[in-house]
Amino acid sequence: MGIPLSSNARLSSLEGRAPAITTLCSHSSLQIFHGARKEGFRTIGLAAGTPPRFYDAFPLARPDRFVTVPKMADLPSVADHLRSEAAVIVPHGSFVEYMGADAFSAWDVPVYGNRKVISWEADRKKSREWLESAGATMPRRYDHASEVDGPVIVKYYGAKGGKGFFLAKNREALDDFHPTGPYVIQEYVLGTRYYMHFFYTPLSDRGYRVGHGSLELLGMDRRDEANIDELYKLGAHEELVRAGIRPTFVVTGNVPVVLRESLLPRAFEVAAHIVERSIELFGGMVGPFCLEGIMTEELEFKVFEISTRIVAGTNLFISGSPYSDFVEPNLSTGRRIAQEIRRALDTGRLAEIIS
Ligand code: ATP
Repeated sequence: MGIPLSSNARLSSLEGRAPAITTLCSHSSLQIFHGARKEGFRTIGLAAGTPPRFYDAFPLARPDRFVTVPKMADLPSVADHLRSEAAVIVPHGSFVEYMGADAFSAWDVPVYGNRKVISWEADRKKSREWLESAGATMPRRYDHASEVDGPVIVKYYGAKGGKGFFLAKNREALDDFHPTGPYVIQEYVLGTRYYMHFFYTPLSDRGYRVGHGSLELLGMDRRDEANIDELYKLGAHEELVRAGIRPTFVVTGNVPVVLRESLLPRAFEVAAHIVERSIELFGGMVGPFCLEGIMTEELEFKVFEISTRIVAGTNLFISGSPYSDFVEPNLSTGRRIAQEIRRALDTGRLAEIIS
């Protein structure tokens, strides 16, 4: 690998060329390719090994062509080729996870969004600093087990999909926790989970104004999480633990939800402050992001995580959602991303949304 290119040097591969919207063949790729086609872009699918066959079943969401590498770790080696194709990478959750945050951040290809956000999202401490300094309420964090005074969830650093999380209904139950790596102890929030799909555009001067642009809400979902979502049917927690059953939060699917309309103003307020703070901290988060939290019976929204790119829950809303229908009919998040790239191209503002 040579010296990493500057953001401007990366952007030069797009000068005077029609970009090809490019993503990894997984997660929300059908929606990203489908949206890109609707907005008139060429599309490239990246795959490790043989390109997945399932695209043949979805002709409207099949990429125009595939670029393959033997394994994910080889993706950096196709950077020159992708630049020669005027590719713009659209990151999604699996993309950054499979490739690794560091390799993705250093990848010498134009990426949609501000890649500086990755380090703020990936590190639980930094993301808490960001969200709390923006005024968001988060589940309480306990520095020591001795302070615990209610139910807690113990999270390992970097545990994807809640792997190995430990639930304890009180301080005593924590004695059964035998850590196998760095972890945090967090208040277990009782309430209803909402995953809110926002979109921040720095390019618009109308709508719900935030920062230099405006904030949109494109959808909302809840995740089905195995096996925790069905665990209650089997009975008391202790008995389950005795039987060797540990709750896990691995996502198996998504269901659409809407929020009580009276709670929307607060949801927008929280999201707006998070965007504004991102501008102060690292030049701003751009495009889709998801606020993941729990609404308590006091109607307080406690944010436990932010995802700063397209989340898989948006796959529910290919032809619009109960929110995006009020922005524009038939608007998926994938299509909204393509529209944003089109708008930036037409107005010479690519540098504001690509890094
Ligand atoms: P991923 O990055 O894959 O989304 P993760 O490993 O970072 O997952 P979280 O998103 O923090 O984990 O949490 C996974 C799940 O655990 C959530 O979807 C939610 O169901 C539950 N959860 C997380 N934090 C809390 C909390 N403080 N109280 C109650 N439940 C929680």
